[in-house]
Amino acid sequence: MKKISASIHLFVLAIIFMAALPIQAQTPSDMNRFIDELMGRMTVNEKIGQLNLVTAGEATTGSVVSTDVEIKISEGKIGGIFSMTTPKRIRAAQELAVNQSRLKIPLIFGLDVIHGYKTIFPIPLGLAATWDMGLVEETARIAAVEASADGLNWTFSPMVDISRDARWGRISEGSGEDTYLTSRIAEAMVHGYQGNDLMADNTLMACVKHFALYGAAEAGRDYNATDMSLHRMYNEYLPPYKAAIDAGAGSVMTSFNDINGVPATANKWLMTDVLRDQWGFGGFVVTDYTAVNELIDHGLGNLQEVSARSLQAGIDMDMVGEGFLTTLKKSLDEGRVSEADIDRACRRVLEAKYKLGLFDDPFRYCDESRAEEAILHPAHLAKAREAAGKSFVLLKNDGHVLPLKKSGTVALIGPLANTGSNMPGTWSVSADLEHTPSLLEGMREVLGNRVNIIHHHGSNLLEDADYQERATMFGRAIPRDNRPEEAILAEAVAAAQQADVIVAALGESSEMSGESSSRADIGIPAIQQRLLAELLKTGKPVVLVLFTGRPLTLTWEEEQVPTILNAWFGGTETGKAVADVLFGDVNPSGKLPVTFPRHVGQVPLYYSHKNTGRPLADEQWFQKFRSNYLDVPNEPLYPFGYGLSYTTFVYGDVTLSSDSLQSIGSLAVSVEVSNAGEYTGEEVIQLYIRDVVGSVTRPVKELKGFRKIRLEPGQSERVTFKLTVDDLKFYDAHLDYVAEPGEFVVFVGTNSRDTREARFVLAD
Ligand code: BGC
Repeated sequence: MKKISASIHLFVLAIIFMAALPIQAQTPSDMNRFIDELMGRMTVNEKIGQLNLVTAGEATTGSVVSTDVEIKISEGKIGGIFSMTTPKRIRAAQELAVNQSRLKIPLIFGLDVIHGYKTIFPIPLGLAATWDMGLVEETARIAAVEASADGLNWTFSPMVDISRDARWGRISEGSGEDTYLTSRIAEAMVHGYQGNDLMADNTLMACVKHFALYGAAEAGRDYNATDMSLHRMYNEYLPPYKAAIDAGAGSVMTSFNDINGVPATANKWLMTDVLRDQWGFGGFVVTDYTAVNELIDHGLGNLQEVSARSLQAGIDMDMVGEGFLTTLKKSLDEGRVSEADIDRACRRVLEAKYKLGLFDDPFRYCDESRAEEAILHPAHLAKAREAAGKSFVLLKNDGHVLPLKKSGTVALIGPLANTGSNMPGTWSVSADLEHTPSLLEGMREVLGNRVNIIHHHGSNLLEDADYQERATMFGRAIPRDNRPEEAILAEAVAAAQQADVIVAALGESSEMSGESSSRADIGIPAIQQRLLAELLKTGKPVVLVLFTGRPLTLTWEEEQVPTILNAWFGGTETGKAVADVLFGDVNPSGKLPVTFPRHVGQVPLYYSHKNTGRPLADEQWFQKFRSNYLDVPNEPLYPFGYGLSYTTFVYGDVTLSSDSLQSIGSLAVSVEVSNAGEYTGEEVIQLYIRDVVGSVTRPVKELKGFRKIRLEPGQSERVTFKLTVDDLKFYDAHLDYVAEPGEFVVFVGTNSRDTREARFVLAD
């Protein structure tokens, strides 16, 4: 009955609005005609209004909040709103636009749906650790289903910024250090969000961000400048953005940073020459939060000057700052921008709305009956639990401490053990933090009475109370224990002593990574390390369950702790998923998408580095007149692609179908992989190449393929990769995309360090 009356209501509304609204037809030329006609009726101010994106402020993602939103909608001064949710609120705002504004142009509604909407999946760095593209796509699909059911049609994702600097807090939001892996993930996410039909009411338009090179911020300090050669840009940092665009992403967001002297938001070369002319991007470009205004602090001029410059660089929509809204008309009157500049941007915004079907039905995403059914659907939660289990990376498991038996007593100790609000991880702005189970709660639910769990918080998160407050903002507080550290430790040790095994839940809070959360010291906080040392002294087996949004330096932990499971932040179902892995229902299969350094002084550290003219010989960590440090080895603690399993995978030799690849043709690279252990497990087989001699220097290894397979104990599988000339191409000194004839090494293995190799030649 409820449903029927809702549909009647919708039908009546539809009739009312259809009569008043412009009606859109379906083909690209129809779109052009439709927009030509609409723009023909728009005043310059109405066109500028379309370029204005405001925030409704439901989530705090910047320091300025939009004002007078309702009045501005009615006056046609807003093109879109973000951080507003629920069909009810969105419908009310949309009604204002299509009832009150002169031309009745619908609004677009966006949000940071980064790793799930209400059902939260692992943080993107964790999702990348699954190396499972089907799964990544499914998580984005579910996020789109839930968010669109709640009224949204645009997400500020995927974030594809390559980062090789673990100090940078936003490394948690991307897919790590590698160009190839990040590119594949970018495609999977765009497909997941957008599906095959942007007009469908359960898809979202993707927004690739942050264009560009945001992850290369100098010294890992957020918003800092980047200065990078074109060679590195084209070969290493730009391909993931391009992959997302080639996959059809409808929009792009600028980055905050300076790029070789011109901030991205004012960078015509980047936004027009590269994005439009070289890559053929046809969607619209939105700035990041107040990024136009920030050009003033970058030192590019006053608000009018920087707004004009951004528009001319190729920016279409201005997020929150209203520089476009307040100055572009004046700039037009003074001849600083042309009407063609404004038209071009306005057209792109209108095209996006057209592609989303908003002119057809502005309330397409406002069906109030859908949200209840779609959001936190049991199937979505099951997928979140699966994704979390697959994202965890087993870094060490000496003496096979894991998996644990489902009996006896476990002491769960640490400041991250019982904090549900931290489990979703950073950039989960729509998560229901109060109802997310903690690790303790998840373990209790999975294990019932079979295992006796003793819990103690063990220590504060951080020694410094102010730092702890900064690190636990936005509803993610971890209560402080103001008693002396020794008293807290003594209690924790006494609790641990009653158990058969200790699970130490340590690491970072979720807001210790993410935006504006860079750290200069990337170890486990000292106060927690002291707790860990005390727990180890009990002589009980210790399993370190590590929560982190970045690679941490775990050199001491690697020496002292028998077992380390890196859980990142696993999302809504973290607690249960950790229990699944600890107690053997799920065999860990995650592989690091980013190198874990031994020491922060090694950063930036990444596997695909150049050789230098003085490479360090194997098996040495120091040699005079070599490229090395006096005090720390060159090697990482855990290499890119690394991750253990409860079972053992054995690799055979790498065989090639030929020792020569012709310019048109392909080469089959194959290897036999066997499960020689006692558990069924999943393994990610990784293929890397090295171009031995080039016209420019080439990386020592580059990922060019991977395959995730599942093997029963005793089972073997021959895995074959196809290499083509395209896999050997790179941008040369003239930025031509070429494959150069000559010798190549192909490596196949379980991570970027432990590989077997074969050689072939690319024929002339
Ligand atoms: C972030 C973006 C985000 C935007 C909108 C900015 O502060 O850098 O990643 O999409 O806010 O919330």
